[in-house]
Amino acid sequence: MIYKHHVPSLDRLIHELKKWPGVGSRSANRLANWLLKMPQAEIQQLIQALKDIKTNIKKCPGCFTFTEEEELCRLCRSSHRKADLICVVEEPFDIARVEASGKFKGRYHVLHGTLSPLHNVKPEDLTIKPLLEKIKQGQIKEVILALDADMEGDITALYIGKLMKDHNIKVSRLAHGIPFGGDINYIDEQTLGRALENRVEVVI
Ligand SMILES: [Zn+2]
Repeated sequence: MIYKHHVPSLDRLIHELKKWPGVGSRSANRLANWLLKMPQAEIQQLIQALKDIKTNIKKCPGCFTFTEEEELCRLCRSSHRKADLICVVEEPFDIARVEASGKFKGRYHVLHGTLSPLHNVKPEDLTIKPLLEKIKQGQIKEVILALDADMEGDITALYIGKLMKDHNIKVSRLAHGIPFGGDINYIDEQTLGRALENRVEVVI
């Protein structure tokens, strides 16, 4: 259902809101109504927050997560993290989930997606090359793939597993507790913690 208000600024706002994930026509109208009633000061704070994410946030040159640090992010800089263990995640937001499980004390590497023949996502679209560069430096002993349990996650795990095979690196994957099709963002911390502890080796 398309609602038209014939108020150009309002229709334009709704048009923009509908681009957001999970926001349909009805939700966009509800959000627009809520925004219209919002005090000017709060609108300014929202505008500023949106501007800041584009101007202040960049990718960490070490793990490729989002950071506002000048150089490496706090996790890459930390001397309390194991340097020989690396957890590969799909998106920066996945790091907070793995951290919340409290079961991982190594370092991270963010792929920024997964391989997908369906959506034409190729290895060069992800940060696989820098991951391989890290491996070649010889410090890393184990790579844990904390990827979603879906087809793209499987394809990516196999691809990375093959690459690591030549470098004598143990490659494991989150196993128990994640149902097929499971997004790691939707499982609780305890389940994720168990999945980390019970990880299984990727056999090529
Ligand atoms: Zn980092």
